[in-house]
Amino acid sequence: MRPAAELAGMMPAIQAEILASMTEGVSVSDGQGFIVYTNPAEDRLFGYEPGELIGKHVSLQNAYPPDENELIVNAVFSELKTKGHWEGEWHNKRKDGSTFFTDSRISVIEIDGHSYFLCVQRDVTERKTAEAAAAASEAYNQALFENLAIGIAIVSLDGRWLHFNGALPKMLGYTREELLKVKFSDVTHPDEVERDWNDMSRCAAGEFDSFVREKRYIRKDGAIIWANRTVSILRDADGKPLSFLGAIEDITSRVEAERALRDSERRYRALSTATASLVWATDRDGLVEDIPGWREITGQTPEEVKGYGWLEAIHPDDQETTRKMWRAAYESGSLYDATYRLRQKDGSYCWVNARGVPLFNDKGELLEWVGVLEDVHEARLQAQALRESEAQYRQVAEGLPEIVWSAAPDGRLTFVNQRIFGYSGISSDAVVRGSWLRVIHRDDRSSVMRAWTEGAESGSRFEVELRLRNQKGDYCWFLTRAMAIRSESGEITQWFGTCTYIHDHKATQRALQMTNQFATTLATDLDLERIVQALCDASTSAIEADFGSFFYNVINEGGESFLLYTLSGAPKEAFEKFGMPRATQVFGPTFRGEGIVRSDDIRQDPRYGNMGPPHHGMPEGHLPVVSYLAVAVVSRSGEVIGGLFFGHKKPGVFTAEHEQVVSSFAAQAAVAIDNARLYERVRSMNQELERKVHERTANLLTANERLQAFTYHVSHDLRAPLRAIIGTSRMIQEDYGPQLPEAVHGFLKRQAEAAAKMGQLVDDLLKISRLSRQEMVTEHVDLTHLAKDAAEEALSIHPYSTVDVQVEEGLAAEADPRLLRLALVNLIENAVKYSPRGGVVRVGARDQNTFFVSDQGIGIDETYLERIFEPFYRLHRDEEFTGTGIGLANVRQVVERHAGKVWAESEAGHGTTFYFTLRPATG
Ligand code: ADP
Repeated sequence: MRPAAELAGMMPAIQAEILASMTEGVSVSDGQGFIVYTNPAEDRLFGYEPGELIGKHVSLQNAYPPDENELIVNAVFSELKTKGHWEGEWHNKRKDGSTFFTDSRISVIEIDGHSYFLCVQRDVTERKTAEAAAAASEAYNQALFENLAIGIAIVSLDGRWLHFNGALPKMLGYTREELLKVKFSDVTHPDEVERDWNDMSRCAAGEFDSFVREKRYIRKDGAIIWANRTVSILRDADGKPLSFLGAIEDITSRVEAERALRDSERRYRALSTATASLVWATDRDGLVEDIPGWREITGQTPEEVKGYGWLEAIHPDDQETTRKMWRAAYESGSLYDATYRLRQKDGSYCWVNARGVPLFNDKGELLEWVGVLEDVHEARLQAQALRESEAQYRQVAEGLPEIVWSAAPDGRLTFVNQRIFGYSGISSDAVVRGSWLRVIHRDDRSSVMRAWTEGAESGSRFEVELRLRNQKGDYCWFLTRAMAIRSESGEITQWFGTCTYIHDHKATQRALQMTNQFATTLATDLDLERIVQALCDASTSAIEADFGSFFYNVINEGGESFLLYTLSGAPKEAFEKFGMPRATQVFGPTFRGEGIVRSDDIRQDPRYGNMGPPHHGMPEGHLPVVSYLAVAVVSRSGEVIGGLFFGHKKPGVFTAEHEQVVSSFAAQAAVAIDNARLYERVRSMNQELERKVHERTANLLTANERLQAFTYHVSHDLRAPLRAIIGTSRMIQEDYGPQLPEAVHGFLKRQAEAAAKMGQLVDDLLKISRLSRQEMVTEHVDLTHLAKDAAEEALSIHPYSTVDVQVEEGLAAEADPRLLRLALVNLIENAVKYSPRGGVVRVGARDQNTFFVSDQGIGIDETYLERIFEPFYRLHRDEEFTGTGIGLANVRQVVERHAGKVWAESEAGHGTTFYFTLRPATG
């Protein structure tokens, strides 16, 4: 043993050796952090040459970013100051920039009164990597555990969830926390809880280590899920059971798919029973093993059916085809579908339909054939009957003169008879295949479709008029009648229809309509120009001509005849440059009124080429007329008024029917033009007449006025001399009476009477003239009242009269009361005057506006009934009845001023009745 001192002497060498051989890096740095020593391991660790780090600052070795570095270094320093050493993990940087971790221990050491830092570092990179790998693997496991689609759980022996992965709560619809609070039995289908407990306790008891079950869980939302669950028992080192480990796989969709399959299988079985179809199968070679159902029908034995034996039960006529069809299907592996007659036990045959399909496995190898056999006897017979009836229908349809068709419910044509070809030139087949739209006039298509849909909605029939194109490309009118056949459920199964040619009828109808329209114009119009335009338009439209014109003669004021014309379907300029048509061979007959000219193609017409100079045929720029029709318009007197000319661009358009139509127009036009002319003449005559009447009335009025003035003046002027005569006569009598001989007295008396009479006459004359001058004011008049008043006055003139005047109550009229009173006084006074003693005079009304005054007097001879109304006309001498003969003249004047009439009815000796009319009272 060496002494301690000797050992102490050896220490530096030992330490150096230790430092050199150490695997841990050692470095010493001064108080400022500059490195003063590194051992070889330190240099190696950091990738420096030996001694290269000396004098460098320690921060060179740190891998921390600058700001972080400062914090860490400060923390280390402060711990070093207080404790004298620091220990921890350090992140280092090599010379080449790569980094690594070390476990580092730093101690403060004092050498010669200076503090140094001794740092010992062990590379822990490997350990760190291993740790990181372990952590990563743990995380992976965790993630795997969590994210497994299978739920994994550890369940306590009493059934509590102890630990589980993410899949489980997701599967069961709970949150993790919720699931921790329930037992496994809470989420298990009630029917299976007991069985599960039983399984688990047997497992815990060691009967088996694990078990697998399909079981149902109840989700939180109540839905049932199917799961495949594997349970194992976990035990401790002594074999004591600790808990269960469960793996739960959701197999709901699989279970459901299986159930669906089972259902469909069951359905299929049910279906085959329900349809009473027979199901058959063969092996992969197409050979029958047995078909019990077949045997039941045919009475064949199992041996007879075997292989191809079943063919024997098929009707001899169908056997060969059936065999061929079966072989063909079998060899190509395609659907087998054959209909044939099958012999039944009783020997009768029945139509059946056999269908079969080959079944293949996953590899595409043929496994077997399965198929059904169906009784189609009834359907087959029905179809046959239908075919027969359809054939019959077609036969009938072909025989009809109309276009006959049938269509599917959607309007698709299924049949058209041959008539369509005859008419349109398109074959029935082509029309059925879809060309029918081409046949219908563009403008009619929408109305056809509309009629169709409305017909289908509202009932089972429709009718529509449409135009169909013929071979020439022209359209003619047809009436389409369609009828739907409906099934028992009300659905339309088929449409039947006919198209009847109504073009001519339609044309006639149209012509008739036009004629009527034209007739209305004629009836209401007497203007010549409008009439001819209406004539031209209506006739052109009625026969559907492209152009129409009417040339007509008129006679001007100078008595010259000249030609005017009007056009339809072309502007007036179209004719202007040709001057007037001349009486050529074409136009001549029309202008001469020689009947109708009709040409299918005027260009081919011999008359046309002979038109003579200057045009020699169709003038250039003339309207493109091919079909031509012209008719003369002849007046009642036989004079040709003009001609109607029609043209069409196409040849052969005008028919005999059109001739009739235009003839009827021409006849009407002739009448209308005659009337218009007559009207024109009457109108001018009327005007002349009116002028004359005016003139004469004016003359009469002045004459009348003058006469009245004269009468007035005469009467007035006559009074003075009359008064003188009367006065002188009275004076002679008074002054010289006694001296005068008796005879003179008589003369004087007669003179006085005559003068008085004359005075009376003058007064009456004055009354007449006053009456006619007096202004009239009509009002509602109580005629009863007025007549009673008048009667009083009349009776006062005849104070000794015994005549009774009776006035009907409730008489009324519209009249001037003063004038009417005058007339009544006159009539009543006459009635009283000419009545016998004790006679009755009645005033009354015959009707609303005819009034009368009647008496039972002497009557008037029929001869004089009119004349008595003339002024001064009297039937009696004054000796018999006094009067002036003015009374009735006044009455007439009054009544006529009221726009009424007065007359007398009488029979001599039996009384007289005077009637007069007035406007009845209003209101
Ligand atoms: P007169 O003053 O003569 O009555 P009228 O003009 O009143 O004049 O009558 C004309 C004549 O008509 C009378 O003279 C008389 O002959 C005849 N006449 C008028 N009224 C009646 C009557 N009610 N019955 C018979 N004759 C009548």
